[in-house]
Amino acid sequence: MQEEMKLETKALHAGYTPKNGEPRVLPIVQSTTYKYESSEAMARLFDLAESGYFYTRLQNPTNDAVAAKIAALEGGVAAVLTSSGQAASFYSVFNIAGAGDHIVASAAIYGGTFNLFSVTMKKLGIDFTFVSPDSTREELDAAFKPNTKAVFAETLSNPSLTVLDIELFAAAAHAHGVPLIVDNTFPTPVNCRPFEFGADIVTHSTTKYMDGHATSVGGVIVDSGNFDWNASDKFPGLTTPDDSYHGIIYTEQFGKGAYITKAVAQLMRDLGSIPSPHNAFLLNLGLETLPLRVERHCANAQRVAEYLQAHEKVSWVNFPGLPGNKYYDLAKKYMPHGTSGVISFGIKGGRTAATVFQDSLRLATIATHVADCRTCVLYPAGTTHRQLTDEQLIACGVPNDLLRLSVGIEHIDDILRDLEQALDKC
Ligand SMILES: *Cc1c(COP(=O)(O)O)cnc(C)c1O
Repeated sequence: MQEEMKLETKALHAGYTPKNGEPRVLPIVQSTTYKYESSEAMARLFDLAESGYFYTRLQNPTNDAVAAKIAALEGGVAAVLTSSGQAASFYSVFNIAGAGDHIVASAAIYGGTFNLFSVTMKKLGIDFTFVSPDSTREELDAAFKPNTKAVFAETLSNPSLTVLDIELFAAAAHAHGVPLIVDNTFPTPVNCRPFEFGADIVTHSTTKYMDGHATSVGGVIVDSGNFDWNASDKFPGLTTPDDSYHGIIYTEQFGKGAYITKAVAQLMRDLGSIPSPHNAFLLNLGLETLPLRVERHCANAQRVAEYLQAHEKVSWVNFPGLPGNKYYDLAKKYMPHGTSGVISFGIKGGRTAATVFQDSLRLATIATHVADCRTCVLYPAGTTHRQLTDEQLIACGVPNDLLRLSVGIEHIDDILRDLEQALDKC
């Protein structure tokens, strides 16, 4: 039944099917614990011989329903919610790599992920090679080592808005016997479904469009169930007995659910990072309207990008939906209905003009956030990157005239009027 539903319908109905007399809306099970009738019933759960709830760090009915909905939206077989997008990125890799292993990652990734990989996970003994998101197959092949365990990239990168050639990256990963993990935060499954192009694992910061209302930090990891962990001896954590779980072999016992079961049974057990059921409930409300909101974000962003491109005080606009953008063709292939509501652009007059522009906006909020239903703006050279010199800013791809605009779902006339009055003052 569920396979036949369209995405808009799944966004409302997948993951939770109330029975006769049960609440229509997903209940918040705000309970750390669950009650059992006998010690034997509980023992079966601890042996993973039976599925059921015993402690919310491992499983919770509200969290599981929301994870199942996101799995359905992505077309995956299983998913697990995490307390942040950062936790999702970390677990997605750490679930299959440890000290002595190596990962190939796109260099065009969220700053927090870059730091997680290049500093924190490096301390755990995992080595990363960063490659251009525009790499050719030959360049990708050259980045692999015998100990490479995965390839990681963003489908639409934050903040540089590069569009990944998912099929190319997936083919390279598979030729070297490893999965492709993609962070699909910006397009969301409404605009891009990476599993259809060969990606194996998808992660999200649900903090962005999925929540959409800027209420809850969260993340999710979704497994396509397509990667064959048994095809090589690269993934002993999944294919050989887990001594910390009575010698269970995840691929034997859980089949296509092996990767997510291991992430829950080992990583959640040992490291935590679960969302509160209340936050999962809020995320679910956001998911119900995700297809509607994303459609409006994209339509508004297209209009704003065209408006900015034609404006005399604007020196450049980066938006993959504009013909002539370097990623226009890839965006049409992988995200045919739109990319996201995020645009970056440069304003003539450098720091002074950018600051005046930002301070003059009335509707758009100044915020270190993107993908909110309310339009927001960030001037990195004056805020998150303000300690850098102009030369350093150019080196990290954030020139001193760059403004990042996250176009919301207000009426387009009000958004354009706000931009116009602010540009008039520059
Ligand atoms: C924000 C973001 C993250 C980190 O997510 P948090 O929920 O803030 O921890 C990861 N990837 C991308 C693409 C993001 O935009």
